[in-house]
Amino acid sequence: MIDSLTPTHPSSAYSCVCCDPSALKGGSSRRGFLGLGAAALAGGMLAMTPGRSQAASGNYEAMLVNCIDPRFTTLSWQYMGLLHGIARDKLSDNYSQFVFAGGPIGAIHPKFAAWHNTFWDNLDITVSLHHIPRVVAMTHRDCGAAKLAFGEAKVATKEEETRAHAEALNQFRAAVNKRQPKLSVITGIMDLNGKVDLIG
Ligand SMILES: [Zn+2]
Repeated sequence: MIDSLTPTHPSSAYSCVCCDPSALKGGSSRRGFLGLGAAALAGGMLAMTPGRSQAASGNYEAMLVNCIDPRFTTLSWQYMGLLHGIARDKLSDNYSQFVFAGGPIGAIHPKFAAWHNTFWDNLDITVSLHHIPRVVAMTHRDCGAAKLAFGEAKVATKEEETRAHAEALNQFRAAVNKRQPKLSVITGIMDLNGKVDLIG
C-alpha cells in the first residue's frame, strides 16, 4: 500500500527565523543567522521555549528513524505532528529520534554494517526507557546515502527509487518485528516538499 500525506507549514503567524526559513532569504548570510540567534538570546526569546514535565523514562509515542540530510529537519518534525491524526502538541517532544545517513537504510544495508549494532542497541534502549509503541522509519527522495548503498543506476528514476527504498523499508520492518515484536512499524519515503509515500 502506498498512501500520501503532505504537511503544511506550522503557521504563518510565526515570523521568527527558527520557524520560517524564508525569513533568511534576501541576502542574509550564515553569519547573519548566527547574529540573529545571539540577538534572540540577548532578548530572552529562547527563554520562551516551554520546559518539559516528563521524566527521562516514561511513556512516549514513537521513535523516528531518518536521514541526516538537512533538507528534511523541519519537514520530518511537521510530518510527525500530522501522522495518523496525532495532534502536533501531543507528539512534539514526545518521540525519540535516531538520525544517521540513510535513516532505516543505514540500519539494515550491508554497506553500513558497522553502524547496525549501534542502531539496534538504541532501539532497545528507547523501548525500555520510553515504552514506545511504534517506530516511524522514513527515507527520502534524492538521498545521497541511498545512492551510495544501492548505486546511482538503481535509483535513477522515481519508480526505481521507490522500488529500492521499499525493499529496504520492508527489510527494516521485518528486522524490527524480529527484535521487538510488540512494536508497530510505519515506513515511508518523504519527497522534497514533505509529501510522504507510505510503504507497506
Ligand atoms: Zn539521505
